Amino acid sequence: MAERITPRAESYSDWYIDIIVQAKLADYSPVKGSMVIRPRGYAIWERMQSTLDRMFKDTGHVNAYFPLLIPMEFINREAEHVEGFAPELAVVTHGGGEELEEPYVVRPTSETIIWSMYKKWIQSYRDLPLLINQWANVMRWEKRTRLFLRTTEFLWQEGHTAHATAAEAEEETLKILNIYQKFAEEYLAIPVLTGKKSASEKFAGAVDTYAIEAMMQDRKALQAGTSHFLGQNFAKAFDVTFQDQNGELDLVWASSWGVSTRLVGALIMAHSDDNGLVLPPRIAPYQVVAIPIFRDKNKEEILAYTDKVVEQLDPSVRHTVDTDNSNSPGWRFAEWEMLGVPVRIEIGPRDMQNSQVVLVRRDTGEKIPVALDDLRERVNTLLQEIQTGIFQRALQFRSDNTHVCETYDQFTALYAEDGPGGFAEMPWDGDPETEARIKADTKATIRVLPFGNEEKAQGKTDPVSGKPARYVAIFAKSY
Ligand code: AMP
Repeated sequence: MAERITPRAESYSDWYIDIIVQAKLADYSPVKGSMVIRPRGYAIWERMQSTLDRMFKDTGHVNAYFPLLIPMEFINREAEHVEGFAPELAVVTHGGGEELEEPYVVRPTSETIIWSMYKKWIQSYRDLPLLINQWANVMRWEKRTRLFLRTTEFLWQEGHTAHATAAEAEEETLKILNIYQKFAEEYLAIPVLTGKKSASEKFAGAVDTYAIEAMMQDRKALQAGTSHFLGQNFAKAFDVTFQDQNGELDLVWASSWGVSTRLVGALIMAHSDDNGLVLPPRIAPYQVVAIPIFRDKNKEEILAYTDKVVEQLDPSVRHTVDTDNSNSPGWRFAEWEMLGVPVRIEIGPRDMQNSQVVLVRRDTGEKIPVALDDLRERVNTLLQEIQTGIFQRALQFRSDNTHVCETYDQFTALYAEDGPGGFAEMPWDGDPETEARIKADTKATIRVLPFGNEEKAQGKTDPVSGKPARYVAIFAKSY
């Protein structure tokens, strides 16, 4: 028998780790807080990467690479940036057996080193916009880590753009937020809320941080990606000016944005079940697994029929064939279920006789006998049905677990020890002290201030302070 996966109802966090370890997505490493991404986990990340990379390039971005080590002095130049990142820095003090005159930090994010280069590359409005993305690893000395969701070293992409006007930089910030939303919803099948972060949750050095925020199956929130409008903060810190069309000198405007290997964790937490991974077809490394069931006496016939079956599949369908029959069919089915392959094709002697196969949906367990002649069409539509089915289920779950709170009692009951949790929509007066009090009382924080929320707040009262509301915020406990 395969190893047991802890059911979600017993321990959601053990369930999450069991899936990662048993599906061989990642493993703990000898370095505290850092993980090893194993081939099966990396295959998922590669699909995320290639999809996002295409989306970035389709919108005019190009890739480049900047050094891993950043002079400490660079980090110190932007006051908020250093304040936010100082506690998380890993610092290199020695090189080649000698103490360095100036220490380096291992990049926690690359605004500083990139803007030190933009100073060299930007002189005139003709050099703008500059739309650069980097795929890289970064390091943040996180105290409490969890595989994929929060590790000290993680893989990500970081976009760093430079613009002639504030409006253009803001437009870019929102364009990327839209790409992130589209990617999360249409590929990962994870519905996300979008909007602005409150000042206490924004990126250190940003004017505004926008985020995509997802609900996991334990009803906690996960920040799945962020896009920052940086104003002229980094241009100021690195003295990056340009000559505009009238010959006037002005500071350059900026955005930066990133998503990381955290998305692999989001994918697991959003869709998987007690039998293992559930992967949406558009991101699954294998969309279909064919499982011939044979004995020595009919092996050749069944495998020949299996070849015929696989030939029927649309060439674009990513598939594999499991010919290892050293375990029982039931064991093999369970194993592929655990690995999250969206569709399994069961091929037995009776199917062969009837020129058919049996398709099994990973997300619902539904069994669908299909004639060989109809296979191509049916698999194609089934993959689409699964993709939308998984998304709809997650959307329904979020809507079932989102509560509009008019009183603070309603709110605190949600986040009490035996409360249901979830997302809460509640008017907020905009005061950081109110926000801090809510966090101290309930551990729930403002996840996002959705677009249009300020209009919605008109005439409403913050139930915590009793003052007029400025925003209607989405609160939740989060990862
Ligand atoms: P930030 O530069 O802080 O806006 O981070 C960009 C994105 O990286 C966040 O939205 C997260 O999804 C992700 N992220 C931040 N810290 C970590 C971490 N320690 N491990 C994995 N992903 C992270």
